[in-house]
Amino acid sequence: MKTSSLQDLKTLSIASLQDTFSTRYHSKDFSFARSEYLRVRIQIIALLFALLTPLWAVMDNLALPEHTLNHVLLLRVVMFIGLVAILLASRFKRSNRSSLLLSTSIFVLPALFYAAVLVYLPNDGNYSLVGYSFIPYLLTATLGIFPFTLLESFGIGLGLLLLQFCSGFVDGTAFSPRALQDLWLLAALLAIAMTTNHFQLGLLLRLYRQATHDPLTGLLNRTALTRHIEHQTPQELMPPVAVMLLDLDFFKQINDQHGHSVGDQVLKRFALLLKKEAKQQDVICRYGGEEFLLLSGPCTVETATAQAERIREACHQLRLANMDGDAVSLTVSIGISMLRHGEHLNDAIQRADQRLYQAKRAGRNCIMAGTAT
Ligand code: GH3
Ligand code: MG
Ligand code: MG
Repeated sequence: MKTSSLQDLKTLSIASLQDTFSTRYHSKDFSFARSEYLRVRIQIIALLFALLTPLWAVMDNLALPEHTLNHVLLLRVVMFIGLVAILLASRFKRSNRSSLLLSTSIFVLPALFYAAVLVYLPNDGNYSLVGYSFIPYLLTATLGIFPFTLLESFGIGLGLLLLQFCSGFVDGTAFSPRALQDLWLLAALLAIAMTTNHFQLGLLLRLYRQATHDPLTGLLNRTALTRHIEHQTPQELMPPVAVMLLDLDFFKQINDQHGHSVGDQVLKRFALLLKKEAKQQDVICRYGGEEFLLLSGPCTVETATAQAERIREACHQLRLANMDGDAVSLTVSIGISMLRHGEHLNDAIQRADQRLYQAKRAGRNCIMAGTAT
């Protein structure tokens, strides 16, 4: 498995400015989830803009010089077709990149339309830009609807500010107090839209993290691991990768003898131990109640077994105590399998499970490993 894809799952903590500033710290799985949110918004806004485009032609008849009407109508047709194309493309293109590209187009297309209208209009100022001059404001406000990062929103917003500034040159008012006030208003709107982006993306991240992490141990949950596996390309899941299934021995007895809260503390301590013993590229997940899964970075069966032995020994050496200060002993059984070429990871997990079962039958507190064959 590639380092980057494994790292993807590890860059998870509480949402902060660092999380919403750019996609740098987003996991691959979250990026996919975000692109789905983007796609829904693209479809709604593209539909809304597509409906508004022909309707607004009525304003042209009222406000624009007659000889420009045909040109503007043509531009409207082009914009309408462009919006319908974005709408259709968003239904079929599901990659992260296409979602980002299409959501940017939702802003670029009307902005270009506005710029083209400004270019077509005569320079005599003998007309009213009612129905047009609000376009940069409308688009800036729309930025807040999308779960953009601050960087993405700022990039698009900057383009809109530039467009607003350039529009002042059409009637020669670019540096008038009125034009500067308009620019100021647009910048303020952009700041509000970016604040909305920050909260929206932060909320999405928090929801995503809650859905993908076990609240007790803070490790990934099984659903997140399964989704992660589904999104892996065959190149990303290349052997040699070891699958380690770890199951605490006689855990039910710990609960029964010392109570559930002690059982919970034991699970937390074991999760900490796993994090400590895991290598940078390993992914650890709470697979079930007292069952954990470690997906290693590139390794051999020997290095994976040595790592499992360190975990087993460290678990055995853990100094745990119940509420009365009495010692609670803990051991773990481990099954290891190596991913075979062309094999689905679920099959390797299945084999690790069988070996875990063998370890239990062999008396527990031991490791059963197998090679690729
Ligand atoms: P074995 O050595 O065969 O694995 O025996 P075991 O007792 O560990 O396994 P068993 O499947 O019989 O029991 C697992 C127990 O783990 C039962 C369940 O109550 C407990 N458990 C599962 N999740 C939690 C949890 O979040 N907290 C606590 N305290 N206990 C849990
Ligand atoms: Mg157990
Ligand atoms: Mg179990």
